[in-house]
Parts: sequence; C-alpha cells; structure tokens
Amino acid sequence: MQYLEGRKYVVQAIFLAVALVFAARLFYIQVMDGSYKLAADRNTLQRIVQVPYRGLIYDRKGQILVQNTPVYDLMVTPREVKKLDTLRFCELIQLSLEDLRAGLKAAKAFSRVKASPLVSNLSTPELAAIQDNLIDFPGFSVKAHMARSYNTKNLAHALGYVGAITPAFLEKPKFSKYNPGDFLGITGLESYYEKELMGRRGVQYRMVNVRGIEKGAFRGGEFDTLSVAGQDLHLSIDSDLQAYAEMLMQGKRGSVVALDPKTGEILAFVSAPMFEPATLSGKGMGNRYMDLLNNTERPLFNRPLMATYPPGSTFKLVNELVALQMGVVTPQTGFPCNWKLVRCTHRHEYPSNVGIAIKNSCNPYFYQVMRTAVMRGRSANRFEDARLGLGEWRRQVMKFGLGEKLGVDLSQEKKGLIPSPDFYDKRNGYHRWNFRTVYSLSIGQGEIGITGLQMANIMATIANRGWYYTPHFVKGIGAGGPLPQYRVRHTVGVDPIHFDEIIPGMQGVVDGRGGTGGNASLLDVGISVAGKTGTVQNPHGDDHATFAAFAPAEDPKIAVVVFIENAGFGGSSAAPLASLLMEKYIRGSVAPWRKRWETWLQGPGEKFVRHH
Ligand SMILES: [Zn+2]
Repeated sequence: MQYLEGRKYVVQAIFLAVALVFAARLFYIQVMDGSYKLAADRNTLQRIVQVPYRGLIYDRKGQILVQNTPVYDLMVTPREVKKLDTLRFCELIQLSLEDLRAGLKAAKAFSRVKASPLVSNLSTPELAAIQDNLIDFPGFSVKAHMARSYNTKNLAHALGYVGAITPAFLEKPKFSKYNPGDFLGITGLESYYEKELMGRRGVQYRMVNVRGIEKGAFRGGEFDTLSVAGQDLHLSIDSDLQAYAEMLMQGKRGSVVALDPKTGEILAFVSAPMFEPATLSGKGMGNRYMDLLNNTERPLFNRPLMATYPPGSTFKLVNELVALQMGVVTPQTGFPCNWKLVRCTHRHEYPSNVGIAIKNSCNPYFYQVMRTAVMRGRSANRFEDARLGLGEWRRQVMKFGLGEKLGVDLSQEKKGLIPSPDFYDKRNGYHRWNFRTVYSLSIGQGEIGITGLQMANIMATIANRGWYYTPHFVKGIGAGGPLPQYRVRHTVGVDPIHFDEIIPGMQGVVDGRGGTGGNASLLDVGISVAGKTGTVQNPHGDDHATFAAFAPAEDPKIAVVVFIENAGFGGSSAAPLASLLMEKYIRGSVAPWRKRWETWLQGPGEKFVRHH
C-alpha cells in the first residue's frame, strides 16, 4: 500500500511535467495536502488544493522577465522509510551522507507521519534522472510546484524572489490563508505585489475509497471553490537600458536611478554590486543566499532605496527654489563668493546672478541664499529666529519628497533626513544653536540624508517645473493601470516661473564653457542636457561622486541620478555614465565616437572600488 502511494506521486509528477510543458498557462497544479478518514463509510475525504498560476512579469516593451517553471521537491515521510540502502540512495540523489542524516533528522523532528521536503527545487531533468529508481525507496515521494525562472540577468534588487513560507510569516494575520510549504514573494516586487501575482487558491473535496479509487465530489461539490489565476505585472523598466546601466556599473559600488519625469515611471534601477535574479531560485538557493548575505561588499543592500547620502551640490538647486518661492531672493540676486563664510569649490567670476552661481557651484552663494531664507527677523532673539526660520524652510524642502518615504512600490525604502529644529534642540540644547550650526544644509552637507531615488525625483520635479508622480515600477496590473496612488500628481509649492533661471543654469553646467559637468554633454548628438555635478564628502574614505540630470532640457524624457561610492569628483565618472544612459534612452543607441566613455568607465575596477 505504501509502495503504491509513492508510485502514485511519481506518476502524477511525470504527468505534470509533460502537461505543464504543453499546456503552459491553462494548467493548474494539483497538490494533495491532506486526507481525512470518514468513520461512517470507510471512505477517505481528500482535500485537493489548486494553486493558481503565478502572474508573469514583463518590461515596458512587453519582454517577459519572469515566468514560471515546474520544480519538484523530494519528500520523505519518516515512518514509511523501510531498510534504507543509504549508499545507493545518496548516490542516486547526489546527496552527502551527512546531508541525508541531517535531512532525515529534521523531517522526524517535524513529523513522523507527515511528508516534509528532503531536497527542494529539483529541475525537470534532475527529477528525470531519479524518478525510475525512486520506486525502490519506500517513504520517498515527489511533490511538484511552480518556481520562478528568469529571462533576464538584471534587476534583481527590484524583482526580489519567491520562496517557501517561513514559520515567522505563517504567524502573521496577513498570511492566515497560507499553509506550510506554500510559496510566496519574499522580497522586492514579488513581495509588494504578492496579492495580485498569486491569485486565489481553489479547494476541492473528493471521496476516495480504501483502494484509492475516486468516488466523486464530496456532497456534490458544495464546499469546493475555484482558483483564480494571478495577474501579470507590466513594469516601466526598459530592459535594454537596465542591462546597459548594470554593465556600466560593473565593478563599482553605488546606484543609478532613471525616471520618466512625466509619469514617475522607473526606467532603470541599479544597486551595485549586482547579482543575477536566478541566484535566488532553484536547488541550492539557500546556500547562495547565505553567500550574498555574508559578502562584505553587501550585494543584498538595496542602495537606491536604503543608502542615504548628504546629496552635496545637487541640493543647492532645492535650496535656491525654496528661497525664490519665499520671495527672499530673485534670480538676479548676487552674493559675494566669500570664503570666510564657507570654502568655495574653486576661484571663479563674481556670482552676480543664480545662473553663474549654479554653473560654478558656488558654496558661499548658496550659504547666503539659505541664510536669507532662514533668518527673517521673526524674533529679536537670533536663536529663536533660526529656530522659526529653519522650521519654515524645512516644511518647504520636504514638499520635494524629502525626509519622508516617497512611497515607491518596494518595501525597503528609507525616508532620509531633513533635520528639524527639534533635532538641533535635542543635539545642541534649546536656544543653543543658530544659523552657523546648520549652514552645511545649504550646500547639501552635514546632517542631511537623501536616497538615490529621492534625488532622481528632485530631477524629475525640476524637469516638470514643480510637480512629480511618485516613482514606481509597475505601470500596469493585468489589463489595468498602476495602483491608484501612482496617478496622483504632487506639486512642490514652487511656481513654474522660478524654474526658468534654474534650468538654463543647469544647462550651463553641462554645455557651458568651463561647466563642471562638461563630460556629460550630448551636444554632439543634438541633445541638450541640464545637470548638476556633486561630490559627497565621505568621512570614512574617498568622496562619493554624483551627477543628476535630465534631457532633453526643453522637453525632458528622462531624469537620471548616478552615485558612485569612493570615486571622488562627480564630473569625471558619474557625469559621463549618466550621459551614456540618457543618449541610449533618447536615441536608442550610443554614437560610435562616444563609446570611448564606455571604455573609460569600465577601466580597471580597482580605480573605483577600494577594498577595505
Ligand atoms: Zn564661489
């Protein structure tokens, strides 16, 4: 009898493998997850769970990125194991004796009478190699389920992965409908859109007699429910741009975020170092996960969402826009490049207007812009004046989506920090700090912390002259659009007219004579770029390089932010990397004479990444 049971599972699995290959989408896996004996008629009631097909994931051009493939778990029911020939078994399964013993021990600890997995995620060829011989080993059976397979080597940090539900998950009310052994999205989009992707399970109850022959539906099927297939996700990611960005970030640490400013759709999203999404699927994924977790380069760390940096010079633009809106400066306001206030980046012409100040990234200029915006004489007490002024300034700055989570469709996002008056009260004491304490904020340094995603969103907001849609990865669920929150337009409270001087200033950074972002110029291919270089001071080592930009300046189609850790000045590495991405997205390819920048960026990795 036990014998037959085992054989039945194997035969079912073979049938499944064949059927799945041909029937693809229409097929539902049937998993028997329990049987109940009915005392009255000696029949057994079988509960058959239909696991619906998990939704697929496509890129913005309709390319499939993530699909389903059948995999098999070798199950063991300890009580049914009889006179196991361990040597032959280990050879067949290609398992070490230690792993077999540990697996059997764990299975016994779980239950002697219930099946639990001994080896998980065997592929169809791996199953084919063992299934004929499995009949000789009572107590072992095969359980089929669907796993993810990948048509892309990229985007692992956003896609996330699917795995077996853990006991910790099962205790949460959100997962009350899941059973041990079920699969679900653990991280990334797979987790954020779990509800949409998984669909709804169906359950059928069947009567089976003692010989294992089906005797029809239980009570005419009145307790049966139908399964509903999961919905597909259509990402805004451009796979070609994504692959190109990952290639250019090879051997570096940092992040890249590219957005369509008009929609908030994320076009490319890189956290370097990268790994391939398939790393976290299939046989042995547990070990590979531990390798990533223990890697000192921290490849699992989702940098664009989780690493907060002081943004450096790029933040000067927000500072300026807030002051313009408050009416405390005009684009024609000049301030001296006074090195007694704060050191400037270099010696340059007198910043008699904001355009010249932006082009030269003049630190003392933006120090004075913020001081004018904060110290308004609201109180005769200059400590109280700084307190009130900083509070008001911070409220305006936060409208750019800073100091709070933007609400992207991934769960790991950090909110960053725009320090409040309370922050300094706690740190320095009430009325024990003034503008000299906080001036670093004016040039994007000091306590301020911003994520790569937030920085990209600032660029999208400037490109749009004052509004943005929350950045998101999924532009379509099933046949519908994105989640409703991604259709809400947010305004940052700065009138469009104030962008008229900022944007030409940013064009001067890239295309102007002696601008700091000249390496990002695309004038030779007819594209005007508005950008800002930044160098982020790093107390732990070499400075980080940043470049933030959008293009074409007059009708922006892409906004990009590049952070490269420990790469020094932003103009030399981050700027050309961003320009290659903008060129590729706008023109579809990179001009042959600009490929030298690819070579330059892919130069010896040691140049950018230092191992500590
Ligand atoms: Zn200066």
